[in-house]
Amino acid sequence: KVWNFYAGPCMLPDEVMEEAQRSFRNFEDTGMGVVEISHRSAEFADIASKAESLLRELLHIPTNYRVLFEQGGGRGQFAAIPLNLLPENGQADYFVTGHWSNCAAKECAEKYGKAIIHECTYLNSDGQYDVDFSKMTVTPGSTYAYICINETVNGIETLENLPDTGNVPLIADMSSNIMTRPIDVSKFGAIIFGLQKNVGPSGMTITIVREDLIGHARKYCPSVLDWAVLDKYGSMFNTPCTFAWYMAYLNFKWIKSLGGVEELERRNIEKSKMLYNYIDDSDFYVSKISPNVRSRVNCVFTLKDETLNNEFIAQSKALGLVGLKGHKVLGGMRASIYNAMPIEGVKALVDFLKDFEQRYI
Ligand code: PLP
Repeated sequence: KVWNFYAGPCMLPDEVMEEAQRSFRNFEDTGMGVVEISHRSAEFADIASKAESLLRELLHIPTNYRVLFEQGGGRGQFAAIPLNLLPENGQADYFVTGHWSNCAAKECAEKYGKAIIHECTYLNSDGQYDVDFSKMTVTPGSTYAYICINETVNGIETLENLPDTGNVPLIADMSSNIMTRPIDVSKFGAIIFGLQKNVGPSGMTITIVREDLIGHARKYCPSVLDWAVLDKYGSMFNTPCTFAWYMAYLNFKWIKSLGGVEELERRNIEKSKMLYNYIDDSDFYVSKISPNVRSRVNCVFTLKDETLNNEFIAQSKALGLVGLKGHKVLGGMRASIYNAMPIEGVKALVDFLKDFEQRYI
């Protein structure tokens, strides 16, 4: 058994993969594989509408929000957000807590308008990275405020301390923690996420956006990024990623069968506690992230003796624990333990951490 700790694309639930495998050649006895079905067919219309209804049900999405199924990935939405919301010469606040919020801010600042960057991370008195939530303030005149709720690279998650942005819509990137815990959608103007971590394969992005924020795109906004166009055409202005959409549907069905995102949250708390507790109790591994803001799904840690990194990676891989190497911009190790990772996978990782520590301490 291989336990896949990659940050994305990553492992998907066995049940989802098995159903997709069956449908790949013959979808519901149509004699056609699911990737061969036209997006204009009744069969696909049914998949698309069931996916949206399940997502709405699981996240309790209010009726004044639209759900758009798009292409272009998270980075496509980094451009789509200012293109759809920011007037020419406008300004927006970006609350930077890591790599991805920084990338989103740069995309806005370099191309579309003024991004007021609020650097919110700092090194606390324990020498750990923490978040200063008091820096998350809205500047008068800003059209929106932007936040990445789970920074996949450095493992910082900030959902518990959402800033109050008043009437200024808060736009959130939840690419890596969507569906891992309940959220109050009404607190956000828009939520964007790529499928490739907790929902399905790469290639599709979903935007959940409040109705009144649709219809303000710049004239030159590419039609495929214009939320009003996507909304008008039911996310089928151009040919959508039908396979990714189908996989999202299977995933949402799986989540519902387990008891919803509430049950996934319970599991994710249990898994992440098991891993962080072991790291905190050990003198061999270190988490440099403050417990207040640790991600439940991207556990970033280092070996105190970093000369052992290559040995650690090679030996874990040989045991079927793959994808533990940290992101290239940060180094160290990262265990991504998304929804599809069962507790057994985390136990296998902790057993390896113990064993490696005993042999090299
Ligand atoms: N936002 C977050 C939080 C991510 O983790 C990633 C990618 O891993 C992105 C955005 C960028 O997504 P994409 O590669 O689909 O453009």
